[in-house]
Amino acid sequence: MTDYHVIAEGLKLPSQILIDGQWRDALSGATFATIDPSTGRELAQLPACDAADVDAAVASARAAFKSGVWSDLHPTARKAVLVKLAALIEDNLTELAVMEVIDAGKPITDCLEIDVPETASCIRWHAEAQDKLYDQIAPSAPDAVGMIMREPVGVVAAVLPWNFPLMMMAWKIGPALATGNSVIVKPAEQTSLTALRLGQLALEAGVPPGVLNVVTGFGPEVGEPLGRHMDVDALTFTGSTEVGRRFLEYAAQSNVKDVCLEMGGKSAAVVLEDARDIARIAEVQANAIFWNMGENCTANSRIIVHASRYDELVEELRKQAATWVVGDPLDPATQNGPLVSKEHFEKVAGLTQKGKDEGARLICGGEAGQGLSFVPTVFADVTRDMTIFQEEIFGPVVAVTKAANDDEAIELANATAYGLAATLYTSDVAKAHRYARMLNAGTVGVNNYSEGEISTPFGGFKQSGFGGRDNGIHAHEQYTELKTIWLDLNG
Ligand code: NAD
Repeated sequence: MTDYHVIAEGLKLPSQILIDGQWRDALSGATFATIDPSTGRELAQLPACDAADVDAAVASARAAFKSGVWSDLHPTARKAVLVKLAALIEDNLTELAVMEVIDAGKPITDCLEIDVPETASCIRWHAEAQDKLYDQIAPSAPDAVGMIMREPVGVVAAVLPWNFPLMMMAWKIGPALATGNSVIVKPAEQTSLTALRLGQLALEAGVPPGVLNVVTGFGPEVGEPLGRHMDVDALTFTGSTEVGRRFLEYAAQSNVKDVCLEMGGKSAAVVLEDARDIARIAEVQANAIFWNMGENCTANSRIIVHASRYDELVEELRKQAATWVVGDPLDPATQNGPLVSKEHFEKVAGLTQKGKDEGARLICGGEAGQGLSFVPTVFADVTRDMTIFQEEIFGPVVAVTKAANDDEAIELANATAYGLAATLYTSDVAKAHRYARMLNAGTVGVNNYSEGEISTPFGGFKQSGFGGRDNGIHAHEQYTELKTIWLDLNG
């Protein structure tokens, strides 16, 4: 038993939703269980909300927005509140990290070193940026002034996935709140606890009632009413492509709200003939697919390798996979905990079986570990027609494919419906530039796996993304409307 087990036992878990600064049950009184995927234990009963709760949350967000209590604040005043929120997140680092571990099955070391600190730094980055942004004056004749300015869009709904519960919430509320909007967050039903706790901390930091609301429950009962709501101005979503495309229908069939979608991926690492150290590449790529149990939208679930480097890379990957520590997520030595749920475990196991059935060569893994964990898995000789080449698995399973030459490697990397991220290995700087441009992906890491930083826009090409970007100052475009005010000085 580690210290973190003791902390987990003593955690006070939230059990109500946040609307208008008040903690409430669902209006219907319905609840659902949130489960620790590591132990199968029920952690809490949470409100199973529906359209009536969504209406209440939207009304509260609208009233707060209209009142100007947040939207009309001087940007420096909004900054001060959000910087305080970031500090409160840091003050509560261990509690938030342990809560994330028991709800999502994520390893404690990752939550302590990545998820919680990056949640705080994301909120602080957008807060700090907001009072340093200027609007524009258009070129015009001297008898007119054309002002081009950004205004908050109004009421924003954020529908979140379960793989990085806190970080994905920060990616949305950081820029949405900094730009003056009121927000309704719908966390994934598997992982709602830290979203509610973050709501408490926001109130404590001084975010006014109604400006940040958190409504728990399932997609059809909460996500869809938000997507169809006539008084939600913008909807930001991170999750699967299958669900993402529905939000476009909801918007089209309701008020044509702005929609931004961050969706699935089947990201490839491309190892060109002149790539440097194959052992190092294998180490980086093992992390790129096995980290967070492979439950990562930019996970490099494919590696496309020049034929001359293929056998060596497959062997080095096998060695790397064997070093990966799978176990209890509350143990600091653990690198991979359980998958998030039984349903997701079955999806990963089913797609892995398909890999075997369709003739890919299993190098290692391919089977369940303890409980809901899955052994890090490497398939070689994967071809473009195979399911594991085309479909997102969202587990610790990598497909390695041989390319006859560098151009074919790039062509294979681009041969899926997705375009979220890619990685490129070469020792030639000219090739790095040329091939990075040829990769159809929102982010390309060269000679390392990278999603960029908070300062760089994040989002996907093709069926990985729609309508905008998270991160960087570019994220503010999702949450603001561009307005022209034209002053006729002769009028
Ligand atoms: P999901 O699409 O199943 O669920 C995401 C959210 O949508 C949840 O809150 C869920 O309740 C809600 N939802 C489900 N059905 C709905 C419906 N019919 N109407 C409205 N809302 C509905 O995704 P997930 O399983 O939670 O997350 C995994 C997926 O997220 C993967 O595909 C992954 O690639 C993607 N993801 C993408 C990014 C990115 O930035 N591109 C980041 C993380 C995860």
